[in-house]
Amino acid sequence: MLSSGKVIQQAGRLLKSNKCCVSSLLTWRDRSTSPQTQLGMSGIISPPVDLLTEEEQMMKDTVAKLAAERIQPLVRQMDADSQMDPSIIKALFENGLMGVEIESEYGGTNSSFFVANLVIEELAKVDPSVSVMCDVHNTLTVTLIRKLGTPEQKNKYLPRLAMDTLSSFCLSEADSGTDAFAMKMSAVKQGDHYILNGTKLWITNAEHSGLFTVFANAKPTDGYKGITCFLVDRDTEGLTIGKKEDKLGIRASSTCPVHFENVKVPESSILGEFGKGYKYCIEVLNEGRIGIGAQMLGLAEGCFNATVPYTRERKQFGKRVCDFQGMQHQIADVATQIEAAKLLVYNAARRREAGLSVIKEAAMAKYYASEVAALTTSKCIEWMGGVGFTKDYPVEKFYRDCKIGAIYEGTSNIQRNTIFKCLEHEGS
Ligand SMILES: Cc1cc2nc3c(=O)[nH]c(=O)nc-3n(C[C@H](O)[C@H](O)[C@H](O)COP(=O)(O)OP(=O)(O)OC[C@H]3O[C@@H](n4cnc5c(N)ncnc54)[C@H](O)[C@@H]3O)c2cc1C
Repeated sequence: MLSSGKVIQQAGRLLKSNKCCVSSLLTWRDRSTSPQTQLGMSGIISPPVDLLTEEEQMMKDTVAKLAAERIQPLVRQMDADSQMDPSIIKALFENGLMGVEIESEYGGTNSSFFVANLVIEELAKVDPSVSVMCDVHNTLTVTLIRKLGTPEQKNKYLPRLAMDTLSSFCLSEADSGTDAFAMKMSAVKQGDHYILNGTKLWITNAEHSGLFTVFANAKPTDGYKGITCFLVDRDTEGLTIGKKEDKLGIRASSTCPVHFENVKVPESSILGEFGKGYKYCIEVLNEGRIGIGAQMLGLAEGCFNATVPYTRERKQFGKRVCDFQGMQHQIADVATQIEAAKLLVYNAARRREAGLSVIKEAAMAKYYASEVAALTTSKCIEWMGGVGFTKDYPVEKFYRDCKIGAIYEGTSNIQRNTIFKCLEHEGS
């Protein structure tokens, strides 16, 4: 029997080899020629969005194994201590889960956006804190550098991001949360350098990050069109990490302020074009929301799976509690809603891979999956009665962890605003 690490390395090797092509076209062909799909009248088939290729299934299974063996035993203590165990960060890197889309030439897993979301979902079934660490790193920082980096930036950062360097995405500030582009953080040009000053708040992974993607206004007279993205190494003089937030949920995921006091960075640390930071931010967050949808989906699934077996064991009035129709209907309702969330998340991820617009679909996926996670966790506590309310079972933690889904990467109100704008644009 192979250990989870070995199995994932094998899956990673297969993905890195061209056997598992990650181009969207081949992914579609692989899925559409699966024996499980059937030809339609036209001879062209659209496989179900949740039908996984062999490689996708293998990654899903191997991440589940890793999560069960390496993460599960540490979840409760990490939550109590508000501390990510370094062995988990190491395991994610060693198993190729922090460079899912990074090309093999940079030492990455060379896989797809859809697989990155499967990884996020599987990790969230066991610990949503580990899941968001992986999500922010893969879907925000890595995506930005892969898309916008110069050859020098890619050579410098992508191998590290695939192998051992955790990263953070620094946008929010004290007075600019939802209104993110009202940021005060400044970048002032001095010769061939920029001097960064300001404080970013709520920065996920900050405690362990080696690289910070930082948005600062380098030309405030141009309003949001002065916002520019910089790559800043952790050891840069003047960059300090503030006190970690003491949070309701996802407590093992570090969330800290990051202070920049006269931080001097070369002009070559600008990612993409000067003044385009707002555009990059919108684009990466639009698709990054699918990752949060995947996190919330995994969380709901993990909680549901940890609860339903209890309803089969617990007896009242001489029957299993799941034998009461009142319970069966509630369990069926939640299962249906989890399935609907899954289809929204998977469809949005598949659309992104096919190069289609995902603005509406990603907003719907994140918004709905976070609603379903909140409903599921609340119901699961009720279905377990008193013990569901204790820390003896994982359900109360899922209940606390799910709340963040309606807040970060755009609150639920903002997702609804986006969905409505898309509907108006479509003329619906
Ligand atoms: C655990 C955690 C991790 C985070 N990680 C990161 C990170 O890694 N990087 C980063 O940059 N940020 C991060 N954030 C910040 C997060 O993205 C913001 O908290 C979020 O965008 C909301 O901003 P805010 O907290 O300032 O709320 P506010 O913007 O003050 O919103 C308060 C309320 O007003 C509502 N509201 C505001 N404007 C509108 C509007 N136009 N229409 C309708 N309703 C509106 C909101 O929906 C919300 O209900 C994190 C936050 C948390 C809690």
